[in-house]
Amino acid sequence: MFEQLRRQTARYSLILSCLCCIGVAAADTILPLPAISIVIDDIGYRHSEDLRAIALPGQVAYAVMPHSPYGRRMARLASAAGRVVLLHLPMQAEDFGKNRMLGPGALLRTMNREQFLETLEINLRAVPDAIGVNNHMGSLISGEAEQMRWLMEMLYDKKVFYLDSLTTGRSVARVAASEKRVPFLKRDVFLDNERDERLIQLQFDKLIDMAKTHGRAIAIGHPHPETIAVLARNLARLDSRGVRLINPADMVGALLTP
Ligand SMILES: [Zn+2]
Repeated sequence: MFEQLRRQTARYSLILSCLCCIGVAAADTILPLPAISIVIDDIGYRHSEDLRAIALPGQVAYAVMPHSPYGRRMARLASAAGRVVLLHLPMQAEDFGKNRMLGPGALLRTMNREQFLETLEINLRAVPDAIGVNNHMGSLISGEAEQMRWLMEMLYDKKVFYLDSLTTGRSVARVAASEKRVPFLKRDVFLDNERDERLIQLQFDKLIDMAKTHGRAIAIGHPHPETIAVLARNLARLDSRGVRLINPADMVGALLTP
């Protein structure tokens, strides 16, 4: 898949550089807009909310909980609609209370290598449409160098990319991914830590500002009605904000292009 992404992006760059030869004035009009990606996490537990999330327009991506009641069905629907699906991988958090919400298939620090990899493989099989993985919680495991190396080894074999949800400042995911040559992205903005439309809108605005500053930015949200309402309003007028929505696989492809 990454070869294909690289080829597509190389072709695009070639077309772009040819067009740029036309002149400076023309180039101004064809430079690609800053890109945003949006991933909706925790898909699989709330049927009607999940369906509303999948009905959002454009290349929104969906991170599906393994072994959840509706996960497999939602992944199929999203994939059939041409959307990118990720496995939303439950990983142990530092906060003991939070770990009650990990759900089945969680990767724990007490697991040895064999248990860890077996659990991961079962999770990947539970969401067969996934071409990427991001962590659900995971503030503890993301900071563990050995476990993150095990994780990246398998993701490299399965040819899937990793999006670090960045639930901790101690994450070593980027280092492990680069060591094991796994295509890597990180979350820039959480949209809905507060379920309030006004605050979600502010987070969306922050996403756009970051994309304009850095060329690209990634947000993670959840299928809450408030988040879906804000996204539905904003995705309809992205052109006027001067950004474009691309899926995270295309964002990885762009980053892999030398
Ligand atoms: Zn989650």
